[in-house]
This record gives sequence, C-alpha cells and structure tokens, in this order.
Amino acid sequence: MFTSASIGIALSSTVDYDQPEDVIRDADTAMYRAKTQGKARYELFNPEMYAIAVARLQLENDLRRAIEREEFRVFYQPIVSLISGSVVSFEALVRWQHPKRGLLSPADFIPLAEETGLIVSIGYWVLYEATRQMQTWQVSHCSHSLEKISVNLSIKQFSQPDLTEQIRQILSETGLAPTSLVLEITESVIMENGAQATEELFQLRDLGIELSIDDFGTGYSSLGRLNSLPISILKIDRSFISPINASSKNLEIIEIIITLAHKLGVSAIAEGVETKEQLALLKKLNCESVQGYFFSEPLDSLAATALITANPKW
Ligand code: C2E
Ligand code: MG
Ligand code: MG
Repeated sequence: MFTSASIGIALSSTVDYDQPEDVIRDADTAMYRAKTQGKARYELFNPEMYAIAVARLQLENDLRRAIEREEFRVFYQPIVSLISGSVVSFEALVRWQHPKRGLLSPADFIPLAEETGLIVSIGYWVLYEATRQMQTWQVSHCSHSLEKISVNLSIKQFSQPDLTEQIRQILSETGLAPTSLVLEITESVIMENGAQATEELFQLRDLGIELSIDDFGTGYSSLGRLNSLPISILKIDRSFISPINASSKNLEIIEIIITLAHKLGVSAIAEGVETKEQLALLKKLNCESVQGYFFSEPLDSLAATALITANPKW
C-alpha cells in the first residue's frame, strides 16, 4: 500500500501570531493549497493565500444564495444548419448576475459549483428555465424552423440516481416534447462513470432526448465506447476551428472528426465559428451545423426572441 500526505506549513517568522488557533488555521489553508496544486506536496503559508481562501469562501457563500435570490440567467446561442441556412436550435449557456461583480461567465463559477456540488441545483434550474423558454418559443413561433434546445450537463449531475426521472418531470411540467431537447455531455462522462452513466444515457435516449458530445477531440474517448452509446451529435471543439485555414493541419483533424461522425451515423456541429473562411471550409467538409460569434454571441432571452422573429438565413 502506498500512502501520501499533503502538508501545509505556517511559520511564526512570517506572521506575528498571538493565538495557537491562528497558526493551525493558516497551516490548514496552506494544506488545502497543497492539495489543489496536486497531491503529496507541501506548501508554505503566505498572507496572499489567506486572501484567496477568503475570496473563495465569499464566492461559495454567494453561490449558495444565488439560486434562491434568482441571480442566474440563461443566455442562448443559435446553432445554424448548413443545409437550410436557418437557426435550428439554441444552446443554453448559464450566466450569473452577481449583485456586486456584474454578469459572470461560467468560467468564473462553474468550477467552484462543481467542486461544492452546487452544480446539481444550478444545472436543474438551467434545465428547467431553458426547457420552459423553448416551449414558449415553440408556441409563439410555431412556423419557425427552430427544432431543439441544447443544455449542458455536468458530470456531477450523473451521480444522482434519479437524473432521468428529474428530467422527465421537468419536461412534463414545462410541456416540452423530449424530442425537442438535446443534452450535451463531455467525453469524461462516458469514460469515467462507467456502467451507471451508460444506463442513464440509454434511459434518456429511450425518452426521446438526443445526446451530444461537447468539446469533442479535447478529451479522451474510446472509439469502441462511442460506437456503443446512444449519441447522435459530435460537437467539434472550437480549439480545432479557430486556427483553421485552407492549408493548416487542423483542417485534416476536422475532416477526420466529421468523417468519424458520419461513419458512426451521427451529425457534426462545429463550435466557435468566427469567420466567413471557416464557414466555407466547414460547408465543403459537409459539416451539418455551425455555432459561433460569426452568427451570434450568446443572447439574453429577449434578444434571442428577436433573432427568431427576424429569421435570418446564412
Ligand atoms: P460549451 O458548452 O462548449 O459552450 C460554448 C462556449 O463557447 C460558450 O462559452 C460560448 O459563449 C463560447 N463561444 C461560442 N462561440 C464562440 C466563438 O465564436 N468564439 C469564442 N471564442 N467563443 C465562443 P461560455 O458561455 O462562457 O460557457 C463556457 C462553458 O461553460 C461551456 O462550454 C460549458 O462547458 C459550461 N457551461 C455553460 N453553461 C452551463 C450549464 O448550464 N451547465 C453546465 N454544467 N456547464 C455550463
Ligand atoms: Mg456545450
Ligand atoms: Mg463546447
């Protein structure tokens, strides 16, 4: 058996201590720092760590209250079909309207939400809100080409044994057809969660929900697993799209991912399309759909409604 320890050290020569509790507290802060930097190492306490720990604690407290205070917002980014040139779906992307810090992006709070488990209730709220909004759009714009709403699911949400039941409940409350919902998962969900996640994916598919692999190409998937799972979309990560031009190596990778998708019988969506050139190349490669700032940034629900009404064609 191998064991390892993370060690935090507080020195009386760096801080003037009066109370033994304070030394322990600082050593503890340094120990947590050592843990987050990777296991089996030591860290020396410095006052800056204390400031970081306090800021984190503050953020965690704010995050715990954010749901009941209704501070989260869902933004919507259009996904455009390259076959019809119209908006066929939206991806729901969460934002946090922080009372002091303004509108925060997922990068500022999703990692902490995942660490603390708060992502489970945030994810539930986003799913509910996005589903409700989509149902409203389907009623108000029934002749529009809009087919689906896509919602990101965190790996942490798969640890709930009643995930499928919760989603079924949300759909029945909001009245949205399961076939109008796409759930985006990352490669890690398939690879790390094994049998239970697989079971849940099949249950979701049996309800009629579509499943999509987000950020494809950045993680690690076994092609065998991929082939045996009920996935219908691969989203090509924007890190492959942003550097492309007609001669780049990335172009070959994109071509391979699109071919792989088609061989597996699923469709491909390119993320992060920002230029006309990228769009032209993706069209040539028979990519089904595209998403990115070239078409639109994520929009609040009012602006997204205006976009649906304007019904632009690309
Ligand atoms: P994602 O699911 O891959 O979402 C795409 C991200 O790329 C979004 O960032 C979007 O604003 C950004 N993006 C779209 N087009 C472009 C482009 O042309 N150029 C560039 N540079 N960026 C573009 P955002 O909204 O900051 O979200 C970041 C990540 O946070 C998402 O990546 C997703 O993994 C996560 N996330 C967002 N909302 C949720 C949620 O409700 N639940 C969970 N679990 N994760 C979420
Ligand atoms: Mg996504
Ligand atoms: Mg993505």
